[in-house]
Amino acid sequence: MAIKQFKTESKRLLDLMANSIYTNTDIFLRELISNASDALDKRYFLSLTDTNISGDDLKIKLIPNEKEKTITIIDNGIGMSKEDLENNLGTIARSGSLEFKEGLDEKEKIDIIGQFGVGFYSAFMVADKIEVLSKKVNEEKAYLWTGTLEGYEIKQAKKDDYGTVITLYIKANTKEKKYDQYLKKDNLQLLIKKYSDFIRYPIMMDLEKYGENNTTTIEETTLNSMVPIWKKPKKELKEEDYNLFYSTNYYDFEKPLETIHYKVEGNTSYSALLFIPSVRPLNYFSNEYKLGLKLYSKGVFIKDEAKELVSDYFRFIRGVIDSDDLSLNISREILQEDHQMAALKKSIDKKIKTTLTKMLENKREDYEKFFEQFGQQLKFGTYDNYGKNKDELLDLLIFKSSYEDKYVTLKEYVSRMKEDQKEIYYACGNNIKAIKELPELEKVLDKGYEVLYFTENVDEFMASVVHSYEEKVFKSLQQGDLDLDSKEEKEKIEKKAKDNEDLINTIKENLKDKVNDVRLTNRLKSSAVCLVSDEGLSFNMERTLNALNGGMVKANKILEINPNHEIFKALSKIYKNNKDINDYSLLLYDQAKLIAGLEIEDINAYTKRISDLMLQAMSSSLK
Ligand code: ADP
Ligand code: MG
Repeated sequence: MAIKQFKTESKRLLDLMANSIYTNTDIFLRELISNASDALDKRYFLSLTDTNISGDDLKIKLIPNEKEKTITIIDNGIGMSKEDLENNLGTIARSGSLEFKEGLDEKEKIDIIGQFGVGFYSAFMVADKIEVLSKKVNEEKAYLWTGTLEGYEIKQAKKDDYGTVITLYIKANTKEKKYDQYLKKDNLQLLIKKYSDFIRYPIMMDLEKYGENNTTTIEETTLNSMVPIWKKPKKELKEEDYNLFYSTNYYDFEKPLETIHYKVEGNTSYSALLFIPSVRPLNYFSNEYKLGLKLYSKGVFIKDEAKELVSDYFRFIRGVIDSDDLSLNISREILQEDHQMAALKKSIDKKIKTTLTKMLENKREDYEKFFEQFGQQLKFGTYDNYGKNKDELLDLLIFKSSYEDKYVTLKEYVSRMKEDQKEIYYACGNNIKAIKELPELEKVLDKGYEVLYFTENVDEFMASVVHSYEEKVFKSLQQGDLDLDSKEEKEKIEKKAKDNEDLINTIKENLKDKVNDVRLTNRLKSSAVCLVSDEGLSFNMERTLNALNGGMVKANKILEINPNHEIFKALSKIYKNNKDINDYSLLLYDQAKLIAGLEIEDINAYTKRISDLMLQAMSSSLK
């Protein structure tokens, strides 16, 4: 049988592995043990419903052989079929783990692999040949997978019991690296203690025991303490223990931002070890993202990706839930409707919320870091389901605002509101700089009102669904009527509008395919014009919705003109002299669009008008 090549991605990774002399090669053992433990979990779970499969005496055994220069790792777990061997060991299974390495140089890549491993392949750091002999439960045939850096082959083989035997042919020592350390029992013992102590199945090795009269006997000895980390008392655990568990299980090269280890007794008793990651996984918003929450019952693995255990707006959470009350015979499908699961979810959600609330109160910097990674998720949560969960989440939101340009909570905003201020003001733009340049901002800021900066698409949708906070309505500075003026100011502007009715109507006529209305406004201070939309749909929302459904929703556009601006005064004079103002109308409109962060429709026409004006100005200055 011909040797098969590894898939290209795998090949690249293998080369990195094989050459990683600077890095922590120890982790191969942790990876293989954790795979064995997963396989035992799967077998045990099957044994609960399939009487043909025994779930007893599940264990892992290590056999180093100094003479042959091999180390063998045996498990009696679920095993692999021929297809499993092909699919799981012939290609890189875990997609996300390689992608984040793209931007890094070779040395950094090696470091990351060394620190966090990439599963089975990490064995090629210490071995130049690997054999995997496996028989899957309920199958007749066993297979032998043999792999080197060149490729691999799979042959039918003989094996009596179910499970997997992995044999590593350890590399010869080099000047830089003594690979034979992995053949020495005392060193292996230390490594197991360090990396795999919490594995819930016994990891066995034959050790010499010294008896009386200088006698020695060989005894099969358990190397690990087998208590899962989440079942250990908190006071026995150090931050490093949590971090190690986290990096081993979630392949994150940052430490968790927050670790939540707790136990609940009562109607629904459970232990939980949860983590809030420091950085958002690259695939977080794609379908590829897998929720890193595992469910155990009385220490027995039930399922991965336990979505039903946490609300979608907290889907960044990783960790383990171990419940004492779930019936083990329950099928994975039924779990979803189980009322115990619902109670668990409620309790877990609550814990996450209190943790975040405390972080917000006491560790503001951490919270802001968290929010920059996962805040969008919380904002989605507030408007998802027509705002059903908004009361749960609104106090967890923070926004940058005009108040010292820092993050503020809605509570802080409202507590600072001026006495005469009725609404919560916000302004939208692509970034804070663009928002700060919006002409609409000036007047409100002059009045001493605080303005929230909305820079994410989701912000406005949030505001429109949530509607208000502590009875204060969210109000866009770029939409509808601001109602900031006194009675006199209003009368003044109405009078001006009346006096200039013909002019305004002419501008309206000039822009009739472009805007729904043209008005004089008090909204502006030093700018001549701005483009706003009516209440309801904003320009941003229009753009987002149309991008989503290719739909044809349209926001109402209103051109507002500042009657106190020199431009308006001059325009009014020209108009009274019966001069054509069509070009000026169009220029004002394009200007307003640019300021609002919108694209202008006809760039050539716009630049031509500007050039003509420049020519006029230049020739008159030469006169
Ligand atoms: P991961 O464990 O993250 O899936 P690995 O590279 O460590 O990635 O392993 C790839 C896959 O190979 C595993 O998901 C599992 O399906 C299979 N596998 C590896 N080791 C064993 C084993 N000892 N028993 C059964 N299946 C295994
Ligand atoms: Mg693995």
